[in-house]
Amino acid sequence: MTGGGRIVVATLTAPAGACAAGRARVYRLGVADYRPPLTDISFVHDNLIDLDQICRLDTFQHLDPDTIKAVLEENGRFVSEVIAPLNRIGDTQGSQHQPDNTVTTPDGFIAAYQAYVEGGWGAVPFEPEYGGGGFPWLVGIVMQEFISSANMAFSMCPLLTQGAIDMLRHHGDEAQREIYLPKMVSGEWTGTMNLTEPEAGSDVGALRTKAVPQDDGTWRITGTKIFISFGEHDMADNIVHLVLARTPGAPPGTKGISCFIVPKFLVNDDGTPGERNDVTCVSIEHKMGIKASPTCVMSYGEAGGAVGYLIGEENRGMRYMFTMMNNARLSVGLEGLALAERAYQDALQYAQERRQGTAPGSPAGESSFIIDHPDVRRMLLTMKAYIEAMRSLIYVTAERMDVALSHPDADVRQANQEQVELLIPICKAWSTDLGVEVTSLAIQVYGGMGYVEEAGVSQHFRDARITPIYEGTNGIQAMDLVGRKLPQRAGGVVEDFLGAIHDLDAPLAKAGDDLASIRSNLAEAVGVLTETTTWLMENGLADVRNALAGATPYLRMFSLVTGGWLMARQALAAQAHLDAGTGDAALMAAKIVTARFYAEQLLPAVKGLQSPVTSGFGDLFAIDPAHLAG
Ligand SMILES: Cc1cc2nc3c(=O)[nH]c(=O)nc-3n(C[C@H](O)[C@H](O)[C@H](O)COP(=O)(O)OP(=O)(O)OC[C@H]3O[C@@H](n4cnc5c(N)ncnc54)[C@H](O)[C@@H]3O)c2cc1C
Repeated sequence: MTGGGRIVVATLTAPAGACAAGRARVYRLGVADYRPPLTDISFVHDNLIDLDQICRLDTFQHLDPDTIKAVLEENGRFVSEVIAPLNRIGDTQGSQHQPDNTVTTPDGFIAAYQAYVEGGWGAVPFEPEYGGGGFPWLVGIVMQEFISSANMAFSMCPLLTQGAIDMLRHHGDEAQREIYLPKMVSGEWTGTMNLTEPEAGSDVGALRTKAVPQDDGTWRITGTKIFISFGEHDMADNIVHLVLARTPGAPPGTKGISCFIVPKFLVNDDGTPGERNDVTCVSIEHKMGIKASPTCVMSYGEAGGAVGYLIGEENRGMRYMFTMMNNARLSVGLEGLALAERAYQDALQYAQERRQGTAPGSPAGESSFIIDHPDVRRMLLTMKAYIEAMRSLIYVTAERMDVALSHPDADVRQANQEQVELLIPICKAWSTDLGVEVTSLAIQVYGGMGYVEEAGVSQHFRDARITPIYEGTNGIQAMDLVGRKLPQRAGGVVEDFLGAIHDLDAPLAKAGDDLASIRSNLAEAVGVLTETTTWLMENGLADVRNALAGATPYLRMFSLVTGGWLMARQALAAQAHLDAGTGDAALMAAKIVTARFYAEQLLPAVKGLQSPVTSGFGDLFAIDPAHLAG
């Protein structure tokens, strides 16, 4: 598993005071090159997803599974050779705010972004009419995994651009689409999403930025936005800000929000960037991670008002945001997976290089590789199992998005859309929580070196920590699951989902002894989930505080069972390959072991979550805030 990796032996002088004797210390650092996990992705594509079906949809008939795989291989190569090597320098240099209110990105970022644009990578999942490659979202999502693993801070620029493209293609008028989309799809211009304000975070409806209509049909925007990713930078010719604001007389809350295009440079008639708009990045945040991604405080209208163009109709901005929320939340969930994968690659390599202690069964006096210690194996297998569960969850959901969008049968579209809606909070919250847990485990595998910045693994943990917070905190995701998703079709959607998990029992029963504990653990877990869901629906209706108090442990329970279902499907597929003598036998055997580990050692946590979900809100509010301090 060391293939492609490289060992960096660095001699570092400890900073003054850090080492009592002030002497030079020698660190041997195991630094893994990023390797796109093509084998596992192929397994998911070949066994959990129907790539052929996707390629038969009208929109994608020009494609076939082999072409898709070739594009992904080439993208993986590009990302690991061009983008991944900048991850560390991005962390140490960070983006910098300059006195003239420009922002400079770390060394190498401009050239790498240029190469990304020239390769046409940002365009792959968009429509050919705007210069896109016409590939399904499922392909875009794999490329996003690669780039987020390679360099999460860098990846946020194309990711935000994708979000802005999505908004314009669905809700922009024809003229707006013609002006902005070709440049944004190519990546020459980048995009931002401007929702957050000092008093409007989770509660977007509290925003105060104003938009005033002008005689020429444009609007003047004034206000302050905070935390705007890539609000200013030096990698593209123009930045297209999508800004949420209130128009005069707008109703309060989310019903009175409109969405505007506010380009950094107004666009000339010939499509080139022209006069500078009245928008300034006044500062950037100093953060614990994603340091190369500038998180900007944006001031609109300091010189009388930034020119803005209304998207769609007034007061429908929040509704438009909702239409793209699923994509955005899936993408952030994917960041959790991507960082977990990167940290796992590092930890696995380190565990095979670091010798310490003597593992049981090794000759006395021989120093063992730490991978031979059972507790280190437990950590590695936990990481691997969670990663495989997350990956299948996100890719299966992305497939359903493609089907929901492009299938000719309206009932099939509807059924897939319902399942997407149900699974999105799981994808976002569970994958980002696990991103933090798995990157933390990677540090644990390294021991003390994990805590030392030069080893590099702590960056993944620091980078991952934002993902449970933005794009709707995970608390908000849990409330979404319980408050909006469970009641879908009067509980029918979740019932269908639980039914699909129950349906796996019959094939698992036939699969034989190796899968027996997967069957029994899954059956028990889905039983607990079904019971708890019923409790939540009944007691949540009686008093909403019960549902909200139990929402986060419920989301975890739901996620663990969903992961168990997908791991069981992987085990069944692997067993079928072994029975038929097809595929790589070692890979299939490993799949079964990993699924069994998940079922026996991770899934049983579901039982322990039942009490936190069903305890209700009573004790949470039983202590007066004045007495919460010790
Ligand atoms: C690095 C970074 C990049 C970002 N990029 C962007 C960007 O590009 N564009 C953009 O618009 N924004 C961006 N954000 C903002 C981000 O989306 C917000 O930080 C996030 O929505 C949370 O809002 P808040 O920080 O105000 O926290 P708050 O809303 O104050 O939340 C604080 C805590 O209270 C909880 N809470 C709040 N309301 C409720 C409720 N009703 N019920 C239960 N719990 C609740 C939250 O879950 C959280 O735990 C970014 C933020 C960061 C740090």
